[in-house]
Amino acid sequence: MSKEPESPDIVGKGSQDTTSVDDRGLQFYKTHLAQLSDAQEQVPLKDHVRLILSEPKNEVIVNFPVRMDNGSYELFTGYRIQHNNILGPYKGGMRYHHDVTLDEVKALAALMTYKCALLEVPFGGAKGGIRINGRKYTPGEQEAITRRFTHDLGNNIGPDYDIPGPDMGTNSQTMVWMMDTYMNMQGAVDKNAKRRIVTGKSITSGGSRGREKATGQGVIYCIQEWANERGVRLDGAEFIVQGYGNVGSNAAQILNRLGAVLTAVQDHTGSIYNADGLYPRKLAQWVEENGGVAGYPGSEAIDDSAFWGVSCDICIPAALELQIDAEVAQSLDCKVVAEGANGPTTVEGAEVMRERGIDVIPDIMANAGGVVVSYFEWIQNKRSETWQLQEVDSRLHMKMKRAYYEMRAFAREHDIDNRSAALAVALRRINEVYVERGVFP
Ligand code: NAD
Repeated sequence: MSKEPESPDIVGKGSQDTTSVDDRGLQFYKTHLAQLSDAQEQVPLKDHVRLILSEPKNEVIVNFPVRMDNGSYELFTGYRIQHNNILGPYKGGMRYHHDVTLDEVKALAALMTYKCALLEVPFGGAKGGIRINGRKYTPGEQEAITRRFTHDLGNNIGPDYDIPGPDMGTNSQTMVWMMDTYMNMQGAVDKNAKRRIVTGKSITSGGSRGREKATGQGVIYCIQEWANERGVRLDGAEFIVQGYGNVGSNAAQILNRLGAVLTAVQDHTGSIYNADGLYPRKLAQWVEENGGVAGYPGSEAIDDSAFWGVSCDICIPAALELQIDAEVAQSLDCKVVAEGANGPTTVEGAEVMRERGIDVIPDIMANAGGVVVSYFEWIQNKRSETWQLQEVDSRLHMKMKRAYYEMRAFAREHDIDNRSAALAVALRRINEVYVERGVFP
């Protein structure tokens, strides 16, 4: 979708060449199914549970027009996929990215189901998004797009039914626009009870302390557990990060406070390197002001392909899916990959890492901190409470640690990798509930 329309009045979405993007979405969905199938070998699922989990419960697609600042109109496609709600209301982020496809959102929604089950968060799994390059739009246009999308989703979302949160390309401001729109669609009496329609809000508008950094914080709690188990010192360890948005930049700043040194970063503007270390906080400020890591003073630009081969202890992919394929996995020079992003590893990439003895902390474990603190935010809104940061962090730490050890115990007991173990623990939990409850009627 171009900001400068070919026709002065109306731009449709039909002119986009989306073939390769659609292929990538499908590849991601198939990757997820392959990972799930490996995990299912460990957990004897009932047939009906296998069937139910094989497809999302609901797939909502809305096409909606928005008036741009220059008076033209654009038509947008928004998705909300509700994968499963046996454990609680649907929960999952909203992604604004030019590569969003139905298959991608389906895979992300399914991952949310298993993430919540693994972490014992009483939510189901959902995901949504709009296929746009948010950076092309003015703040006013972004607000209009978000408000119209929320309006058109209507009762397909709800504070006890389906609760959106932030993901790539969206942030606390996006969530506050969604909340305000939804609240204004309700009767005046009920309005304030609907604040928990979204999580990841700013603290001023009802968000939780610690939510902004929660996903990055959770990644680091996992890395600390891994380091304890492996006897690796984090003080002085070197790490690289792909993606310097919410997850990547927070993870980098927290790990750096533990003494680890950030040597290379890649984002959509390029790859940068400094053998003596980059300042994670200053880099975050630079990205905020300049839109990306490229040109950061005190760094040298390196090839995007060279980024993955930078020698380090810890690699944190925190951008897009399917980044670590067989070739990239072959070039990695690290001890562990902690998946801040959802689905960053292909089936072939995982195989190569296994052969090469590179540990993996899989996405549904490593990046679960976001949904855990979203759950805390939802509880605080429901009870009209405000928790201090220390309380949020210590509750998050406990939940991450418990799930991490459950994953590791399962992996050791069955001699399988962490990803299959994490998915198997989640599947076992979901299976038990379905067996107890049966299928209506
Ligand atoms: P974000 O929009 O804040 O940042 C995304 C980052 O990815 C940016 O630095 C961007 O430059 C980079 N990026 C985009 N395209 C790229 C490309 N082609 N090559 C290299 N870098 C590229 O997004 P985020 O919220 O940090 O999410 C990042 C990942 O973490 C996603 O996979 C998301 O699903 C996952 N995640 C996010 C949360 C959360 O709470 N925000 C929770 C769990 C998982």
